[in-house]
Amino acid sequence: MEQIIEKANWCLGCKNRPCSNSCPMRTKIPEFIEKVKEEKFEDAYNILIQNNLFSHVCSLVCPQEEQCQGSCVRGIKSTPTQVGSLEEFVNEWAIENNVKPNIEIDKIKTDKKVAIIGGGPAGLSCSYELAKRGVKAVVFEKENVLGGILSYGIPDFRLDKKIVEKIVDNLKELGVEFKLGQELGKNIFIKDLKKEYDYIFVGIGLELSTTYKLSDENLDSVYNSDEFLRLYNSKKFVKNLGKVVVIGGGNVAMDSAKSAIKMGASEVSILYRRDKAHMPARPIELEDCIKDGVKFVELTRVNNANVENGKIKSVHCNRTKIVDGKAVDVVGEEFDYETNTVIFAIGLKSNRKLLENEGFELTDWGTIKVDENNETSIENVYSGGDVAGNRAVVCEALASGKKSAESILNKIIEP
Ligand SMILES: Cc1cc2nc3c(=O)[nH]c(=O)nc-3n(C[C@H](O)[C@H](O)[C@H](O)COP(=O)(O)OP(=O)(O)OC[C@H]3O[C@@H](n4cnc5c(N)ncnc54)[C@H](O)[C@@H]3O)c2cc1C
Ligand code: SF4
Repeated sequence: MEQIIEKANWCLGCKNRPCSNSCPMRTKIPEFIEKVKEEKFEDAYNILIQNNLFSHVCSLVCPQEEQCQGSCVRGIKSTPTQVGSLEEFVNEWAIENNVKPNIEIDKIKTDKKVAIIGGGPAGLSCSYELAKRGVKAVVFEKENVLGGILSYGIPDFRLDKKIVEKIVDNLKELGVEFKLGQELGKNIFIKDLKKEYDYIFVGIGLELSTTYKLSDENLDSVYNSDEFLRLYNSKKFVKNLGKVVVIGGGNVAMDSAKSAIKMGASEVSILYRRDKAHMPARPIELEDCIKDGVKFVELTRVNNANVENGKIKSVHCNRTKIVDGKAVDVVGEEFDYETNTVIFAIGLKSNRKLLENEGFELTDWGTIKVDENNETSIENVYSGGDVAGNRAVVCEALASGKKSAESILNKIIEP
């Protein structure tokens, strides 16, 4: 407790709030830390929750070093205020003390209804803002679990799934309705939902994994990170992984590598076309991988696999060098790297066909085009999160869900 108060006292309570301004959710950082200083932890908790029901999640997975902590004035001459660990402490304290959030409800008079497609951070955040204003929100989710990547992507050693379940319980208590097993483009369609609902929000994330062909043979020991992490999170551990190669350098590659170790792989290597300094993964995730014994093979492009009797023996690679920030092959520097299993973690993309069939105008990257209010090319249909081209981090998805709800509320209040 002494350490926590000491950490809180490090905060200067700056009036110009650079920390809050660089948080996509505009967390009231000086305000909640002030309450921690006064040891009024329940007040600190309610300040956080009123603004962001996912506060606990954010304290665990947000890249704070780039956001709140990255902008903290304390960081100019010394170490920044540890905003993330203070936020985590407040949320953990609330659990230990069985504190329920005291959410302020400010109902508006309306019979308008909103359909939310996708129960990930973007959709759930949108539903929270609508529920706080008493607007009926119905979430349609294709899976039988809510939370999106928070539930089936980010592994449980980084994010306890009970935290996500608690958020969903809170939303149910606020009157949000959930319909599971409902898939846009399969058993629900925008044109039909428009007849029943006044507004629609689409937050279906990016569902297709990027991969490339390693061999002409059919290989059962090649996974994309999405399917691999879903297996890990549903405790369906893959046996006999042997030596694993993960291709990629982001957080998803780190999660895949650590999950492979937990599944019993004999050795795990991350092969990345650039060097560690250019890896998009958070430094903390990279350090964790090193601690777990993951090997890093930098400046390496994997071209194809050497296969014998349908089994991968090694991957054939090309050494690269960085030229103007880009990885370029070094001619003649080729080598084989021994492996039995390959996991692709090189990004996700949208299902362009599905989105076009539903009538959305798309960007060149295949994400849904939205205007400054997050409205799509279809009137009264909004979009946010990864599918609307936001930077793929949880707090950006949450913030765009919130902004969309505010745009919808503005239309309801002043049609
Ligand atoms: C392995 C992994 C680790 C990550 N780690 C971090 C991290 O540490 N920190 C961080 O900030 N970000 C991290 N991210 C990124 C972050 O998880 C995403 O940016 C965020 O989840 C996006 O939220 P979303 O609501 O837009 O989409 P999603 O989380 O993808 O949710 C979309 C929801 O829509 C549903 N859906 C999809 N298609 C349909 C359909 N046709 N009909 C109905 N429902 C549908 C899905 O089932 C899902 O529930 C990570 C991502 C991955 C994959
Ligand atoms: S910038 Fe740093 S010191 Fe100033 S209020 Fe924010 S967290 Fe506190």
